[in-house]
Amino acid sequence: MGEARLTILGSGSARPTFQNSPSGQILELCDKSFLIDCGEGVQITMARMGIRTSRLYNIFISHLHGDHCFGLLGLLSSLSMQGRLQPMHIYAHADLEKLLRPQLDYYCKDLSYEIFFHAINPRKRAVIFEDRTVQVETVPLKHSVPCCGFLFSETHRQPDGEGGFVRVPRKRYAYCSDTLYTERFVEQIEGVDMLYHESTFLEAQAKLCRAVMHSTASQAAKIATLAKARRLLIGHFSARVIDHTDFLNEAQSLFPDTLLAKEGEILTF
Ligand SMILES: [Zn+2]
Ligand SMILES: [Zn+2]
Repeated sequence: MGEARLTILGSGSARPTFQNSPSGQILELCDKSFLIDCGEGVQITMARMGIRTSRLYNIFISHLHGDHCFGLLGLLSSLSMQGRLQPMHIYAHADLEKLLRPQLDYYCKDLSYEIFFHAINPRKRAVIFEDRTVQVETVPLKHSVPCCGFLFSETHRQPDGEGGFVRVPRKRYAYCSDTLYTERFVEQIEGVDMLYHESTFLEAQAKLCRAVMHSTASQAAKIATLAKARRLLIGHFSARVIDHTDFLNEAQSLFPDTLLAKEGEILTF
């Protein structure tokens, strides 16, 4: 069983601060690099960390709020300037292609590589990507626009006893952002090795949090507990909270194995 590596490129919410860029992560699983969300500044953080964008395999976008996709046009343009030849596959709500195609046609006329948009239905749980070793499922979330998380599984084939094979998951990573507190996906992500759950606010701001359809640190910890996750990673922090140890303390009081997502950090599991 290989090691999974998760690189945090952005762990803030909608408004960027000096401390936090909007959402972006790279998951390396079975020698493939998956980019999850692409907020503004993602390619800059990658450059700062010395991560070669040429290594990116494909891209998953949770929803079409700017803090999760404003970095895409710049990144896709840079990939062409670097002479990328390998096609790029982007999995997102169908509207992303409608929004991005005209901009690509205008700004990136002679793209060095092909882009394939794969329309996903964020309201339905479905396998959206599968190859020999990795499977990706949508995790329907509850947000102000259609939004889904992603469950990445490293799988291997095992005989089913009837002459066929079944896929058995080994390592699993669940990315759940952005969402109002909901338990509806708990069963789907049960026992994951690592759960990323958004934690935009603290419990003291629960009313505001509910109004803008986000979760608190306590709620993220509650989901991790119910799902029997091995570890919880929290992020998508509001610019209103300056000291992030408040998020950590609140979550750890319910779920001790909690980590804070910090830009530039690499986690292995
Ligand atoms: Zn967001
Ligand atoms: Zn959002």
